[in-house]
Amino acid sequence: MVGFKAVYLLGRSNVGKSALIRALTGKRILSGRRPGVTKRPSCVESGVIRYVDMPGFGFMSGVSRRFSEAAKTGIVRHLERNKEAIDLALLVLDAKAFLQICSRWEARNEVPVDIEFHDFLAELGIPTLVVANKIDKVQDVDATLDAIGDRLGYLPPWRQWRDTILPVSAKTGQGIPDLRYAISRRLGLL
Ligand code: GDP
Repeated sequence: MVGFKAVYLLGRSNVGKSALIRALTGKRILSGRRPGVTKRPSCVESGVIRYVDMPGFGFMSGVSRRFSEAAKTGIVRHLERNKEAIDLALLVLDAKAFLQICSRWEARNEVPVDIEFHDFLAELGIPTLVVANKIDKVQDVDATLDAIGDRLGYLPPWRQWRDTILPVSAKTGQGIPDLRYAISRRLGLL
């Protein structure tokens, strides 16, 4: 353990956490692909960084609400217990779907789970980058990032938060060098 900097990836299932680890490190992560298969946190090491892929939170198709709640509680407990050992969190969002999902939750008077996790990480004192993945699927990038940032408490324009809000595409590689740089900076490696 000693010597590694731990970077945790958190986000809903299917936002692209595994794809992102592959884009950042060139290494493939092995995980259960069926919905409802609780992935143990799986790790990939690259230089002095240990990337930890956490199980996806939120509701997944084919999985009961109770199971999703239990998975969320498991992640919350894990973060509470390990907060001292977590150097940085990447809160990974699907830039295309995020706003729509937020509106759905807010219409039910519920706090979207991504926002809940964002605030929880701040409460625990874990430094966090907001990674807006799948940016290749977004048409109006600035307006979308302004709106995403706004939902999470970063006053628009998003560009004033460029060291915290990172638009990327794990698929095309867009934004990956900037993300790598932001991670290294936050870890004090530069
Ligand atoms: P995870 O459940 O969060 O680990 O998500 P995965 O890494 O398994 O990705 C879920 C799906 O999204 C896969 O079909 C990926 O190919 C796709 N995906 C991941 N990143 C991107 C991206 O940046 N752009 C697009 N268009 N698709 C992506």
